[in-house]
Amino acid sequence: MDYFNYIDNKLWCEEVPVDEVADELGTPFYLYSHRTLTRHFRVFEEAFADIPHITCFSVKSNSNTAILRIFINEGGGADVVSGGELYRALKAGVDPEKVVYSGVGKRTDEIEYALRSGILMFNVESSQELEAINDCAGRMGKKAGISLRINPNVDPMTHPHISTGLKENKFGIDIERSLDEYRQAKKLDHVDIIGIDCHIGSQITEISPFVDALGRLKKLIYLLREEGIGIKYLDLGGGLGITYDQETPPHPQEYARAIIDASKDIECTFIFEPGRVIVGNAGILVSRVLYTKSSDDKNFVIVDAGMNDLIRPSLYDSYHHIQPVILKDRESFLADVVGPICESGDFLAKGRKIPRLNNGELVAVMSAGAYGFTMASNYNSRPKVPEVLVKDDRYYVIREREDYSDLIRGEEIPAFLYESAEL
Ligand SMILES: *Cc1c(COP(=O)(O)O)cnc(C)c1O
Repeated sequence: MDYFNYIDNKLWCEEVPVDEVADELGTPFYLYSHRTLTRHFRVFEEAFADIPHITCFSVKSNSNTAILRIFINEGGGADVVSGGELYRALKAGVDPEKVVYSGVGKRTDEIEYALRSGILMFNVESSQELEAINDCAGRMGKKAGISLRINPNVDPMTHPHISTGLKENKFGIDIERSLDEYRQAKKLDHVDIIGIDCHIGSQITEISPFVDALGRLKKLIYLLREEGIGIKYLDLGGGLGITYDQETPPHPQEYARAIIDASKDIECTFIFEPGRVIVGNAGILVSRVLYTKSSDDKNFVIVDAGMNDLIRPSLYDSYHHIQPVILKDRESFLADVVGPICESGDFLAKGRKIPRLNNGELVAVMSAGAYGFTMASNYNSRPKVPEVLVKDDRYYVIREREDYSDLIRGEEIPAFLYESAEL
């Protein structure tokens, strides 16, 4: 359910016509619907209303501070994976006690920053990291709240690049070794064991992997309690999938019901780290067709957005629905929708049957709200595109378009390079 709809053959975001934004701001740009974002967050929140929980939005899926602020206003926390993400979440006004910090490679300065900020807990991914956190906390005269990120070895049945809870993945601590790891943690003076955590992957469209993972964590919680290690927080990560094409992921209510059923006898506060399911279908990328060309049996539609703006198709072979902003009677044809980047891997769709598009026309790349702008780069020295938030009949630029001077910010040509060349 989203608020991108055609009215009289024109695409609208809430009560704003998409072509008007394009005319005023130029293309490409990301366009988000406030109503959709709020709705998705509330549906998720309300699904878990019966159990104590914190919804920590996964900042890496969409890190714009205005977007973060929407969820903070709804009572949400943040799941961060870097000092930079923590900075963003704090700038947006997050309650530090609702922040969890995940990731396999936390640096000392990042750990210190998180300790200074008073976050709820670190999701620890290795024994060396555990020691580093203990050392930092000791130096700072603090106690670090921690949970261990368990790798439960369950197959999330998703794309291999976005599965994280299998033995061969770099994430978390082997479930077989986790009891020992907790015992080690208990011996440390400057950490406070408060939780257990897992995050098994992304774009998961079945319930069973979540329930399997939860079952494995539950057993561990009982074993830990027998040893006097109390677990207050059970962090089940994120990963719930969305519909990009034909997928039929469980509704957050079904997901919640299964989890609530499977966790009846554990008294824990749950933490969830949803990203994609909240923002994925709440944003689109709007682009303009620059040229079309055909060679032998191939048609190309060249648009002004490329893999540097939206890398998911190139990186994961992801499907994004691509549609004209203005509908009219037209035949469809088989085409590659490609960007201006000098890479053959620069495409938004390959061999896709789409309505025949002409140069100058606007296209909407759907379901681009998650891992869209956050993965954007300046490759080919292309300024990053603006992010725009629609609320009702108004729109707000929540990140302005970069200009050429942004591209070389921080660069310096050393003086010797200006001296006349020596022979
Ligand atoms: C990426 C990530 C998430 C969010 O995943 P989604 O699939 O977007 O819900 C949550 N937790 C951790 C640790 C992550 O790395």
